[in-house]
Amino acid sequence: MSSGKDSAVDVAIVGGGIAGLIAGRDLARAGLSALVLEAKDRLGGRAFHRDSKLGMKLEIGGGFVHWLQPHLWAEMLAYGLEIESVAWIEHGYWLDKGEVRKMPIMDLMGAMTPGEIRIAEGALEAFPNPHAPFPLTDAARRADRMTVAQRLAELDLSDEERRMVAAHWTLSFNGPMEDAAWSQILRLVALAGGDWKMRGQAESRYVLKGGTSMLIDAILAESGAEHRLNAHVISIVQDEKGAALSLADGSIVRAREVIVTVPMPVVHDMAFDPPLSARKVAASRRNQVSQGVKVWMRAKGKIDGFIAFAPEDYPLTMMGTEYDVDDDTILLAFGPRSSDLDIRDVAAVQAAARQWLPDLELVAVDGHDWSADPLCRETWAMLRTGQLEDIEEFNRPEGHVRFAGGDIALGWAGHFDGAIESARRAARDIARKLSAQGGS
Ligand SMILES: Cc1cc2nc3c(=O)[nH]c(=O)nc-3n(C[C@H](O)[C@H](O)[C@H](O)COP(=O)(O)OP(=O)(O)OC[C@H]3O[C@@H](n4cnc5c(N)ncnc54)[C@H](O)[C@@H]3O)c2cc1C
Repeated sequence: MSSGKDSAVDVAIVGGGIAGLIAGRDLARAGLSALVLEAKDRLGGRAFHRDSKLGMKLEIGGGFVHWLQPHLWAEMLAYGLEIESVAWIEHGYWLDKGEVRKMPIMDLMGAMTPGEIRIAEGALEAFPNPHAPFPLTDAARRADRMTVAQRLAELDLSDEERRMVAAHWTLSFNGPMEDAAWSQILRLVALAGGDWKMRGQAESRYVLKGGTSMLIDAILAESGAEHRLNAHVISIVQDEKGAALSLADGSIVRAREVIVTVPMPVVHDMAFDPPLSARKVAASRRNQVSQGVKVWMRAKGKIDGFIAFAPEDYPLTMMGTEYDVDDDTILLAFGPRSSDLDIRDVAAVQAAARQWLPDLELVAVDGHDWSADPLCRETWAMLRTGQLEDIEEFNRPEGHVRFAGGDIALGWAGHFDGAIESARRAARDIARKLSAQGGS
């Protein structure tokens, strides 16, 4: 790591999340000098495994991983990382219209199945090659114009089936269904081979043994890139030879090429000269559906494994058991609107969690409000209607500047896998371009 100072490199990478670290590693592997500029005082971005108030290390950002995610799996294989399963679930709760029902987990899954099957119908037709979705099929384009709420209204389902499938996808979108693009469901299910259950498992069952910090440490141990913390990039000015990046500390970095890996909703905070395409700026300003919360809780006593759902009008729409600590239970919950729940407030979170378990007693809560974080402004990327083609637009370079990151991945966008895929493509393309030019 180095402190702020003027420097010149082959490639400057804005953002030190998984995408930035992977891009830096790959560029250094290709023999190029790469400098990763991270605004925060730590690397990893939304991969953030840290000590918590709950008495154990927790994934404050993303955590779930799966073998269905090929780019992530390849990194895990290369670095010898393993997965482990989170707590086993015995029963489910369904809360709706003020009434809670407890049932065996298989009954809850059974009740959700008709809606899950219907909402995912057509996934493989819309996205026959889900890692290369562009140009979009007509079916994908149609689905991208429709919200999940609109699609659900069309389906022949009972009111409860409709509300259950909406609750489940509210968890995945981390936001309300009237904002959510139906195409996003088809895309994710297509990535899971058309199997909605496996899609669900990819986002709920397995975590990295030792945490996502294991992946970050493994990349850093190998990487020949330089990483600079507290390096907030405020502008990128291009000329015929490359670009000059201005940092908030007043220093300048000159680079032949630039990769911007910041979350899509914060791209427009940086000044670009020449300006970015109007479509990129509009997409960045429009933000994404995922404006919700992820909150960890430590509850008194041992609680049998469960998962609980509620529709999107509740502050928490999903809660479940994850780990045991001493004689207590660690629970994980998600809600669709960060504005509705202060996840640092034990009493507020307890009140929300008691919607399912009235006797629940919380001793501590922990989490980070990513939606309110000015360097993120969302949780994980989930698209609004009409945004799918914005992804294609963000994959178009602008002179010496190109974009990468989990938000704009072609495949598993909104996931670690997508961050890796997108970064590897950007690094590959730049290495080819600079190699064709020769010299430095
Ligand atoms: C609560 C939550 C739960 C999630 N759950 C999962 C999950 O279970 N499984 C999964 O696969 N994915 C999950 N995700 C998504 C996953 O974490 C992200 O898709 C992935 O980490 C994105 O990596 P990235 O490098 O593209 O972006 P980021 O990790 O966001 O990195 C971008 C970096 O850019 C920095 N930055 C921003 N602006 C500037 C600037 N101007 N100058 C310099 N630096 C800047 C930021 O500080 C940040 O470190 C979750 C995310 C969240 C928030």
